[in-house]
Amino acid sequence: MVVEKKTPVDTSDVPGFCNETDSLSDGDSTDESEKGTSPPSPSPSDRLKQLDSVTLFSRLSQVDPPTARRIHPNNRRKIIRALEVYEQHGMAASQLYQDQHGTEMEQAISGPLRYHNVCVLWIQCQPEVLNKRLDDRVDDMMSRGLIKELEEFHHSYNKDRLTNHSKVEYQLGIFQNIGFKEFHDYLILPEEEKCTEQGKQLLEQGVDDMKRATRKYAKKQVRWVTNRFLKRPDPDACPVYALSGTDITRWEENVGSPALEIVSSIIEGRIPSQEPLPLEPNGKNPAVHNVCDACGGKVFLTLADWTRHRNSKRHRNTVMKKRREEQELLRNER
Ligand SMILES: [Zn+2]
Repeated sequence: MVVEKKTPVDTSDVPGFCNETDSLSDGDSTDESEKGTSPPSPSPSDRLKQLDSVTLFSRLSQVDPPTARRIHPNNRRKIIRALEVYEQHGMAASQLYQDQHGTEMEQAISGPLRYHNVCVLWIQCQPEVLNKRLDDRVDDMMSRGLIKELEEFHHSYNKDRLTNHSKVEYQLGIFQNIGFKEFHDYLILPEEEKCTEQGKQLLEQGVDDMKRATRKYAKKQVRWVTNRFLKRPDPDACPVYALSGTDITRWEENVGSPALEIVSSIIEGRIPSQEPLPLEPNGKNPAVHNVCDACGGKVFLTLADWTRHRNSKRHRNTVMKKRREEQELLRNER
């Protein structure tokens, strides 16, 4: 397919392709000079408008699957708009949109998973228990010589900077690791002052700050997993199974064997006895339109409907059955 790139490229309209108030066509201004001499050739949007909805939607599914998933197959206007964007810019609207608006972090969060048929086993822990565990970890690091290590590091990398009156770059590289900047005030003390009351206080403060930073980081990780897999799931979202790591003495019972049951069920094409975590789309997430390929192209207009469908026995049975058939086929080919 030959893609015509027009100049100047006006990308300002790209995010608007799904905007209800958006006009259908940009108007093909480049053709205007030809008017009067010969009948104008049909504009790309006119050509698209002559096609039926099924053809349009399948074309969009090919060139821009992420956008196709967000648009109802009967919404000709939006499908045509997205195809126009593709023809004009030689790039999928979703890609353009991501290039323009997605930060690296957002892309990492919202990008598609690398593999299909993925399931996530999420070992969770009650916050109070987790915080205690994290505090103990810091104490353990202290008793295994964290301060000595930091002092050595401080001497070789940081001290020169300080004597040269340049700023310590705690935002960069290794310096931003938890457990270094927290001990800054202690580390810059002259050797003889480290044993004084003030030195001891600064050391304690460092330990407290490090514990606080570690707990904050753990919270951030939980938020990240929730956002990535439960609040902003893409249509290929994988099921997330929660396992409880709160009581470490019951690891085998709460984590080991359920994990094995879930994974072997999925591999063998059975439905795991444990339900995956429910999706919890947040308010910022606009209504998502999805088409379930597994169930013969059934269409869902809201994320809530889509979630209900994905968690339904019927859908899961269909998916499992398809997977079994695929595996059967693979076995027979061998
Ligand atoms: Zn389905």
